[in-house]
Amino acid sequence: MPPEISIVVPLFNEEESLPELLAWINRVCNEHHYSYEVIMVDDGSTDNSWDVVCDLAKAYSQIRGIRFQRNYGKSPALYEGFRAATGKVVITMDADLQDSPDEIPELYKMVVEGGFDLVSGWKKVRYDNAVTKNLPSKLYNAVNRRLSGIKLHDMNCGLKAYRLKVVKSIEVYGEMHRFIPVLAKNAGFKKIGEKVVQHRPRKFGVSKFGWERFINGFLDLLSILFMSKFGKKPMHLFGALGSLMFLTGFICISWLIGDKIFHAEEVGLTNKPAFYLALTTMIMGTLFFLTGFVSELVVRNASDRNAYLVETRIGFE
Ligand code: UDP
Ligand code: MG
Repeated sequence: MPPEISIVVPLFNEEESLPELLAWINRVCNEHHYSYEVIMVDDGSTDNSWDVVCDLAKAYSQIRGIRFQRNYGKSPALYEGFRAATGKVVITMDADLQDSPDEIPELYKMVVEGGFDLVSGWKKVRYDNAVTKNLPSKLYNAVNRRLSGIKLHDMNCGLKAYRLKVVKSIEVYGEMHRFIPVLAKNAGFKKIGEKVVQHRPRKFGVSKFGWERFINGFLDLLSILFMSKFGKKPMHLFGALGSLMFLTGFICISWLIGDKIFHAEEVGLTNKPAFYLALTTMIMGTLFFLTGFVSELVVRNASDRNAYLVETRIGFE
């Protein structure tokens, strides 16, 4: 029998927090009589985290552990946890005790009774550094909401709950853990909600992410939006852009040449800045166009070029 809840915990050098976290999760789940499993993914910790996980697994039969050979990042850790998860509802939670296990019952209910595919936590009151984290994060989330069209206040919150099918249908890779709601939306899951959750200051250890997260995050957002729109048909973007640029350049150059021939312009073509601008535009247009062709070749050979998600079938029994 699969459990009602799978709790996926990615962890990297969090040895001090783990015993308290597990005891807390256990207390909450027992109080509510949930059957559960905790999947602890050790993302190549260099402290004693893995030994702690092994010790805890002896104390709690619900624990399953996965250890990476080296540190790969939070996204691969979540991906591996999602692959292993079997519970009806999957809840992800940071290992550093900044997310409260007390939120589990409410999140579980929102998925099971509320019918949500995904519920994201919202750290409305946040206990991180105001300058390096809280303020940039607010700005960042605003841009995110604008570009992705998903109305979440705290897209990158580590505390989230999912219907099992959602985590089995998306592939978190690179550093895309910041955009799981966008991945879920692209996969066709529409009921995405949020819940205000308690946040706590980090009790042990240090944060694993610095200010670079905002630059990388923004670039990843652009990639993900590009992928969702043109990922399977890149020529539609590069071809259109390339043709437009080439044509613009071509018309300008024709005009300049015509001017020279019919109006016997004194100034030579190569002495006009406009000539070089037009030429560059034509070359860039050609490059865009070629990029389109190359991208199409890549897509054609991608193993997931036809990986569509079927919701239901009838008449196939
Ligand atoms: N984490 C991970 N691999 C990494 C970096 C972080 O598994 O390469 C885990 C980390 O142990 C924690 C969670 O991801 O459980 C969130 O990291 P952190 O608390 O450092 O992020 P912050 O709360 O500062 O945003
Ligand atoms: Mg943290």
